[in-house]
Amino acid sequence: MNLGIEGKWALVCASSKGLGKGCAQALVAEGVNVVITARGEEALQATAAQLRAMGGGEVRAVACDITTPKGREAALAACPQVDILVNNAGGPPPGDFREWEREAWIAALDANMITPILLIKATVDAMASRGFGRIVNITSGAVKAPMAALGLSNGARSGLTGFVAGVARSAIAAQGVTINGLLPGAFDTERLRAGTTHAAQKAGQDFDTMWTRRRQAVPMQRFGTAEEFGAVCAFLCSVQAGYLTGQNVLVDGGAYPGTF
Ligand code: NAP
Repeated sequence: MNLGIEGKWALVCASSKGLGKGCAQALVAEGVNVVITARGEEALQATAAQLRAMGGGEVRAVACDITTPKGREAALAACPQVDILVNNAGGPPPGDFREWEREAWIAALDANMITPILLIKATVDAMASRGFGRIVNITSGAVKAPMAALGLSNGARSGLTGFVAGVARSAIAAQGVTINGLLPGAFDTERLRAGTTHAAQKAGQDFDTMWTRRRQAVPMQRFGTAEEFGAVCAFLCSVQAGYLTGQNVLVDGGAYPGTF
């Protein structure tokens, strides 16, 4: 299917690895020009080279911390116009809420709620004036099925989700701009491996036992791939998805146990 977005410009945040990279790859494959970001220069440039080798859209790489004003400014400056915005950042650490002081909460809110909101603020009106815009916020399956150890993530991402539920249905909805949440379940990335290491240590188990246990908890009996995640992201950015807004799309191999 031709998604109808060739030649558009996308800012894909936090995208040298994992799910953000999967989204950038899927968009480049559609002929979208992308700006990718990450803090680590080496992995970022390696990913940029891979994306360029695909022969799709133009690829620009900005090494920056997207959770800082300077980082957001640099990322936005590299993108001639933002037609597609994929909000993403590293997830907050797991732990016990009794041990988190104000600073931990502020860091989680900055990364997983306020940064996406500020990037939406910086881009949404220009999208609306051009009559086309796609915003995808990478959040987490924990927005629907929270896990106690991920309290920082549950709180910050639910705040973003609540904000987006309102703004997606505001005047911009009639101006061709959609905003949706994309909720990953368990995907085989560095983040999942780090989280599994933490959970294994806490449970007094080895990594492989915990990894297998987690995999078997997914009805599909496997973890998702960044490519699968990116494909859903690209569809949400497509012309065909123009009537889909204000939704939270779970991609989790059937892990969420509810009917709705
Ligand atoms: P990942 O494999 O660890 O990749 C994270 C990417 O984000 C890297 O490219 C990293 O590069 C970049 N990044 C992190 N913090 C950044 C910052 N402040 N500024 C710019 N770039 C930054 O993680 P992932 O699994 O793709 O996860 C992506 C998001 O989905 C996270 O918020 C995670 O919590 C959430 N999530 C993931 C899963 C899963 O199963 N994988 C499940 C639920 C939710 P640098 O470190 O070099 O900056």
